[in-house]
Amino acid sequence: MDLLEYQGKQLFATFGIPVSDGRAVDSVEGALAAAEAVGYPVMVKAQVHAGGRGKAGGVKFAPDAAAVREHAGNILGLDIKGHVTRILWIEHASDIAEEYYASFTLDRSAKKHLGMLSAEGGVEIEQVAVENPDAIAKIWIDPVDGLTAEQAREWVLAAKLNPDVTDGAVEMLLKLYTAYVEGDCDLAEINPLIVTTEGKVHALDAKVTLDNNAEFRHEWGDFELTQVRDAREEAAHEKGLQYVGLEGSVGIIANGAGLAMSTLDVVNQVGGQPANFLDIGGGANAEVMAGALQVINDDPSVKSIFINIFGGITRGEEVAKGIIGALEMVDISAPIVIRLDGTNAEEGRALLEPHLSEKLQSKPTMLEAARTAVELAQKN
Ligand code: GDP
Ligand code: MG
Repeated sequence: MDLLEYQGKQLFATFGIPVSDGRAVDSVEGALAAAEAVGYPVMVKAQVHAGGRGKAGGVKFAPDAAAVREHAGNILGLDIKGHVTRILWIEHASDIAEEYYASFTLDRSAKKHLGMLSAEGGVEIEQVAVENPDAIAKIWIDPVDGLTAEQAREWVLAAKLNPDVTDGAVEMLLKLYTAYVEGDCDLAEINPLIVTTEGKVHALDAKVTLDNNAEFRHEWGDFELTQVRDAREEAAHEKGLQYVGLEGSVGIIANGAGLAMSTLDVVNQVGGQPANFLDIGGGANAEVMAGALQVINDDPSVKSIFINIFGGITRGEEVAKGIIGALEMVDISAPIVIRLDGTNAEEGRALLEPHLSEKLQSKPTMLEAARTAVELAQKN
């Protein structure tokens, strides 16, 4: 789950990381009241799940009420990379002496946490990584050992930050590491991490991704409220389906995550574009199949449907009955191609036989089924 900047800052603040006093608001009037409360000058900042807000005109300095009114009016409703701004964060503006970059994330291949620190923050860090990779000091942290103050100090020295702020930076990074681990973050990033003109190290931005698997041990209800979800994903998750919305036109239903992934690959391989990933799990009964077809059918970009089932514990005839039952429950608009294989596949195909038509085809192999589904999607 990705947090908005202000939520990330709220999380940081609970771990003692210095952030500016601010308020989240959803109107110009609210922005004016917030600016009064935190004191001028303020920053007016778009809260959207996208980076590069500054460049897109979503971060503005406001020395007085007239400027707040102007900027808040402009930024509310502003589209930043496809995300429409509905919430503003008004915070007391900081005087910046230096802008750094700091983050922790998981390096899965190293089985360690990866910390990145750079004296060249503020700008796009991806650009720094490409053009001047030596400007990013990296540290790999064993999750069992954690990050010690000595390691953090060496890391700060390697990043060549202003030597005057070494202590402040070390303290900040230790807190950020604690927030990252105890907060169950997949990513905790501060860009820019600033040094103020008074020499204080301070978090001016926050980009946090929480690990959804850890939700049970946190109170993340408020963060949930601002999540923007794909309507198709909402509907699928309500039905208990493992679904991820994609951009293409071939609707996919498969049993098992591995088979569903392979199905996406095969559709791509024969020149098609999957509209989704959907794993209906082991028991492909009529109700589950109907739910899956419903979700796929409601997606206007779906032009054909590829049902790819490999019977294991669930036998072929059960799957076939499930599909036939589902077709009685849902009025399907796109043509369906079925590949049914595995345990009792022949019995299953025999059951499907009398129901086959232009709109419901059965193909013996995954590749043939994929080709047919892609052709149909391109024709429709
Ligand atoms: P992003 O563009 O989405 O990463 O948004 P940021 O929160 O990082 O803000 C973008 C830029 O605005 C920062 O790199 C700063 O240069 C500037 N900025 C943000 N807050 C302040 C502030 O309090 N004072 C000043 N002077 N500049 C700020
Ligand atoms: Mg930033």
